[in-house]
Parts: sequence; C-alpha cells; structure tokens
Amino acid sequence: MKFNEYQVQTKTTAIYPEDKGLIYTALGLCSEAGEVADKIKKSIRDKGGDLDEADLLGLKRELGDVLWYVACLSSELGFSLQDVAEGNLDKLRSRADRDQLGGSGDDR
Ligand SMILES: [Mg+2]
Repeated sequence: MKFNEYQVQTKTTAIYPEDKGLIYTALGLCSEAGEVADKIKKSIRDKGGDLDEADLLGLKRELGDVLWYVACLSSELGFSLQDVAEGNLDKLRSRADRDQLGGSGDDR
C-alpha cells in the first residue's frame, strides 16, 4: 500500500468533528505516541527492558495508531502523506550529505 492510499483509507475511520480536526488529530498523535512510550517504559520497569512477542505486537499496533494520526493530521494541514514522508527523507539525506545528522536544530 502506498502512503497516499493509506491516507485516503484513514478517512473511512475518522469520526471526529470536522471543525475540530486539527486539534483532535494533534492530541491523538501525542496520545498514541505516549502509548508507545508507556509500553516501552513498562517493559523496563517489569522486564528489564526485554520485549516479548506480546509486547512487540502491542507496540506494532500502537505504531499503527501513531501512523493513523500522522496521516489524519497531515490531511488536516493539507499535506499528502507521501510528501511528508519524502520530505523527511530528503531532509535527512541532505543532513547526511553535509555531515549534519548529529547535533540539534530544525534547520541544520
Ligand atoms: Mg493506541
């Protein structure tokens, strides 16, 4: 499945109010990213950081939730998911070419 096909498919399961789409999807993205972090945090607390099959399945599902919100937030902002993905790789390749992958700052 291509990124843009996925983005179109997310609209079939988006049930939030249209006039609250931007804030709803931004909050949802943060919430789902927190669910990923929480599962990893609990694996550290309870299992020394080891991830068993059930943990991995749970993380895979939460990453899917993150992706769903990235796609929907991108839609709210008028971005195609393909452009977001390609733009990210272009940015990182440029940094790698200029030996700028380390360090900090959005515009390095
Ligand atoms: Mg979730």
